[in-house]
Amino acid sequence: MTLDKSWFSEAVEATGTAFSLKGHKLHEEQTPYQKIEIWDTQTFGYLMTIDGCTMVSTRDNFLYHEMMSHVALNSHPDPQNVVIVGGGDCGTLSEVLKHAEVKSATQVEIDERVTRLSEKYFPELCTRNSDPRATLFFGDGIQWMKDAKPGSIDLIIIDSTDPVGPAEGLFGKRFYLDCIKALKPDGMLVQQSESPLLHLELIKEMHAAMRQAGFARTHLFHFPQTIYPSGWWSGSIATKSDAPLLERIDDRTVRGMETKFYNPRTHRGAFALPTYVEEALE
Ligand code: SAM
Repeated sequence: MTLDKSWFSEAVEATGTAFSLKGHKLHEEQTPYQKIEIWDTQTFGYLMTIDGCTMVSTRDNFLYHEMMSHVALNSHPDPQNVVIVGGGDCGTLSEVLKHAEVKSATQVEIDERVTRLSEKYFPELCTRNSDPRATLFFGDGIQWMKDAKPGSIDLIIIDSTDPVGPAEGLFGKRFYLDCIKALKPDGMLVQQSESPLLHLELIKEMHAAMRQAGFARTHLFHFPQTIYPSGWWSGSIATKSDAPLLERIDDRTVRGMETKFYNPRTHRGAFALPTYVEEALE
């Protein structure tokens, strides 16, 4: 079957892969930073793309947003002050604010249009934006982190686009050095780290850069993400202290928090790595 214009396709030359959803385009705009499109798809609800890459769909965004927030939040002893870099669709912010112990959550998104379009097409991700603990800051996360007060942050969540364009600098040692400085002694960082099947080299380089910057330990976890290349995604946690990750995932911490994918079993299972990934990260 040949795909006509009623299909959105993300074709990636470097990996020789493509992912498509049938639908029709509702909106397209070029911002100072990137090209954003909104599609109304036949089976995944609304879809936001940036520079031709899938970002968020109504149907499957819970997989990414729950795993990029709760895994790290429940691995930290007391995450009170959380900063999200990127994440302009507000889905990660919404999950972070489900945690009563979080006292402040700042989203640092470079492109305000991502948030404005999310408010229109993904209002379910933006319901907690008016929470008094939430701050929506629009600016470059790299500069924001340079200027951050030293030793002030418990958890940094890097929910960015792929390491090209404005997000490129979020994947390197210089940025990680600023993150370490901004974190409290028991602070940690979690970053979306692409596909364990297609981007293992990038994951290795990220972990190496995190350690070179001074993070004591790095951990990989993984989860399904149907609209991203290969359908399988990962997050990387880097801790400032050498202490092992906590597992604050007893019944008490999960009860009362509505999640669709995340639970104590998917939390633990996410750290169980396939043999070839374990060997690559040794
Ligand atoms: N879940 C998605 C993924 O893994 O592909 C990411 C979604 S979120 C929409 C990514 C956001 O990162 C975009 O809105 C983009 O504008 C933002 N971003 C990219 N570079 C940035 C930077 N240097 N500072 C702050 N935000 C940035």
